[in-house]
Amino acid sequence: MGTKRIMKTIFGISSDTLEQFEQAARQSAECGATHLVVTEDLPVAQWQFDTPGDPYPAWYAFQPGLLKTFPPSSIRSFVDEAHAERVGEILQKRCAILRRHNLRGVYHTTEPQVLPEALYALHPDWRGPRVDQPNRSRVARFAPCVGHPGVLQLYAEAVHLLLQKCPEIDTFLFLTIDSGSGFCWAPSLYPGANGCDCCSSDDLGERAVNFITSLQESAKREGAALEIDLVEIEPRSWMRQTFTNPRTLATRLPPGLSINHHEGPNGNRFASGRFCNLFYNAFYPVVGLPRPVDFLRKLTDNNTAGGKRTILSFNDGLNTDLNTALFKAFQGKSAADPLDAMRLLHQVAENFYGSDSAGQVLEMWTAIDDAERQLSSLDFGPFLLMGGLLARWITRPFVPFPEDLDETERESFFPYLFQARDETSALNLIDIQAMRMFEGWGARLLVEQTVEVTLSHLSRARMAAESLNAQPGFASSLMVSRLDLLACLLRNGRHAVAYQAQLDLMKVGLSPDEARPPPPLGATASWDHLDLVNTARAEIDNTERLLDIIAANPGAVIDMTPEGSPETIMRFSSTLQDHLQRKIRTMNAKWADYDRLSPPANP
Ligand SMILES: [Zn+2]
Repeated sequence: MGTKRIMKTIFGISSDTLEQFEQAARQSAECGATHLVVTEDLPVAQWQFDTPGDPYPAWYAFQPGLLKTFPPSSIRSFVDEAHAERVGEILQKRCAILRRHNLRGVYHTTEPQVLPEALYALHPDWRGPRVDQPNRSRVARFAPCVGHPGVLQLYAEAVHLLLQKCPEIDTFLFLTIDSGSGFCWAPSLYPGANGCDCCSSDDLGERAVNFITSLQESAKREGAALEIDLVEIEPRSWMRQTFTNPRTLATRLPPGLSINHHEGPNGNRFASGRFCNLFYNAFYPVVGLPRPVDFLRKLTDNNTAGGKRTILSFNDGLNTDLNTALFKAFQGKSAADPLDAMRLLHQVAENFYGSDSAGQVLEMWTAIDDAERQLSSLDFGPFLLMGGLLARWITRPFVPFPEDLDETERESFFPYLFQARDETSALNLIDIQAMRMFEGWGARLLVEQTVEVTLSHLSRARMAAESLNAQPGFASSLMVSRLDLLACLLRNGRHAVAYQAQLDLMKVGLSPDEARPPPPLGATASWDHLDLVNTARAEIDNTERLLDIIAANPGAVIDMTPEGSPETIMRFSSTLQDHLQRKIRTMNAKWADYDRLSPPANP
């Protein structure tokens, strides 16, 4: 394939504070990266939660839509100007840091992104397609129609405002059709193909081409060279494709513009790799676990995928030293086959921890990787994110009659559930944004098996981490805690699925408040009663362990909002420990309720 010249090496490293961003910039520049993503970990646009009980904005309120972050004067009064100002300032400061390190910036978001309803009341012809997912939202949400010249004009002004503040930004990475974004009449729109009448007969691809071309031209008028990769959400087996012929579309694009990674005008690959937000990974919300095996796999994949640009996501910034060391080592050698890859990892382990520890370190890394790959069997969106966090398995009490919980018992989890359907769905542990992939006993068995195998890999990793702890100079004191935390979260997931499957079984045909005679003397507890109460008890003990780990290592093992920021649907805050304690209290207060499901023992 000849020698490949990489024009842009783009790193994405999560950083909440400017100090962390500065450190990420320094580390990136030191190892030869040219770009850093500037849009991660921005303040959440709370103003977009405009309808009580509608969780859908959680999928885009953290994504800085261009028109809402750099609002043109004509629409400024329709967005939260103070928020836009605050985000603009952070981006400006991040760009100043990039300048000091001779780096450029990459802007990642979803586009064309939802605009407020009030704006469409004034400009009905700007209303594009409905883009929410109807089972996950309570309100119809509309993106602007980029087939409309007035809308393209707004975008041109937004690009102008962005470049004034942040001239270092020269690359846009757009995800589309997902997270509150889309184009009129795309077949893959979540509510189904829909859009404005004007666009109904024209070509979707043409509109996408015009949209990014007009953004690039707006930048050109400012004297800036802007590159854009617009990528549809990768369709899962049950989803539709958006752009059926991106290679043909590329022939209509100039260089530097790309749809689904096909760059104009010859359709060559735009970039290898992809940017991923911190929360969208298999171990989230656990932070700080090193994943060099996976990182090396990404380096190898990027190397074979081609493209003049390469994108690498680092997850949290806690292992950046290790990942950049691996990045540098990879540039020097190839890791073409598995043996080369292992040698390279061993070499990096040796450089970091000395030759005596390298074997054990490699054992720990590969065990962590085995765990991650095993867990991907449950990935309908990462298992711990979709269930543990967005369905609040971690903080919600598992009780037989959740409908009886009072306000105080609910307030620590209910407002943060990602749930837009009815009360019954909200109270069902396995109703995950209207997906019920883990429902019933068959699903329970598959989840239990997958979690068991994953835990066995993690215990291998833990043994290696423990033996390393004994060696001088190995800074792994938090490694064991992080692995233990991950194991707790996996057990929490296993318990949630098991509990709901058993509860569903026991509630079939049940009238819990019917007066019944006492069970005969000598009756023992039934198998199904014991299965349910023992799952509940195991979960209480698991939550106690979770609390201990978090209390011992505040801020260092689990991702939380920055100090002083409230909990959101997508992120825990410093109230987490309180919410875990409440969960335990509530579960312990409900033991008698199990007798309403099946007759208690009467020995
Ligand atoms: Zn339209």
